[in-house]
Amino acid sequence: MIQLHDKTFVPFINEKTISAAIKKLANQIASDLNDEVPVFIGVLNGAFMVVSDLMKVYPRNCEVSFVKMASYEGTGSTGKVQELIGINENLRGRQVVLVEDIVDTGNTLEVLYEIFSKQDVKSLKTATLFFKPEAYKKSLKIDYIGIEIPNKFIVGYGLDYDGLGRNFPEVYQLKTQQMTNIILFGPPGAGKGTQAEFLKDTYNLVHISTGDVFRYNIKNETELGLSAKSYIDKGQLVPDEVTINMLKAEVEKNEGANGFIFDGFPRTEAQAKALDKLLSSKNTQVNGMVALEVDDEVLVKRLLERGKTSGRPDDADESIIRNRIKVYYDETAILKDYYQKQDKYFGVNGVGSIEEITERLNNVIDAL
Ligand code: AMP
Repeated sequence: MIQLHDKTFVPFINEKTISAAIKKLANQIASDLNDEVPVFIGVLNGAFMVVSDLMKVYPRNCEVSFVKMASYEGTGSTGKVQELIGINENLRGRQVVLVEDIVDTGNTLEVLYEIFSKQDVKSLKTATLFFKPEAYKKSLKIDYIGIEIPNKFIVGYGLDYDGLGRNFPEVYQLKTQQMTNIILFGPPGAGKGTQAEFLKDTYNLVHISTGDVFRYNIKNETELGLSAKSYIDKGQLVPDEVTINMLKAEVEKNEGANGFIFDGFPRTEAQAKALDKLLSSKNTQVNGMVALEVDDEVLVKRLLERGKTSGRPDDADESIIRNRIKVYYDETAILKDYYQKQDKYFGVNGVGSIEEITERLNNVIDAL
């Protein structure tokens, strides 16, 4: 496994398979060109390794040169402009073989082919070590293909992710983690904490309750606890910046988890966006927001009841409870819309016995 910037990659194609493919390419080219000396034109930066190895196993004499496509923003209507740099040999009457590390959509190869076909060459062939048939959009035939691969993001053997990874002698693919990430949603007192306990065991998920993390920090008088206490005591939301950083740290603590139950987070759109960003950097996403729907008066009754034993100051006072519910409707309920737009919102009736509600939740999660 390798880490490049924010992404993890796992081994995909080993050195032996790559060398065998290159040897096959070399032999096919040699047998087509007979005794004519080819000029291999490598397309930088990615193709430097494949060109080097191809020449080493090419059974006869050959020449090499490199080109690079530089793309820059043109002015106004011209949009992106592609310019070829580096070609200065006279290729007239030569057997030219364009060598690519990978052909994806085929855009670059098509542009190159156009340019070289105007150079009065004797023949123009195209070769690539890797080819993605599912991504290829052009009709130009590629003469020599080393290895066909599915439409995956790969690095190594000349290929990079934002500059890194070219040096690896084998090829890696992006690690896709099949995580299950559930947002357990609903007003205070809806039963999120109770249900999260069941869900985390059933689905082997890590339960993160932002409220619990805050209370733990308050109890231990940490800096975080001190900065959150005044808000929590009044039933207000802790500022996004504090909450988001805390949530990130909790997720980071559980590298390799099967997934998360987010309980009490996100509560604002900024938090929802931060969560999307965090999960996408881990190559995963929110699977669904599962919301417990409970009538306000039932909530107030439940919370006052809980206040008798929970020791939570924000459960002991009816006006603070009502403020928490109000904050939920004023600031948090908009998140229903946020996830509904992505077809990720699932409402569940939160009134009934604990077992009944657990079963309703399980049914929704199983179908995700
Ligand atoms: P809870 O245990 O989820 O009811 O949360 C208790 C209190 O912690 C809330 O009333 C807020 O003051 C604070 N809190 C918990 N989660 C968040 C969050 N995602 N954003 C802001 N404040 C939060």
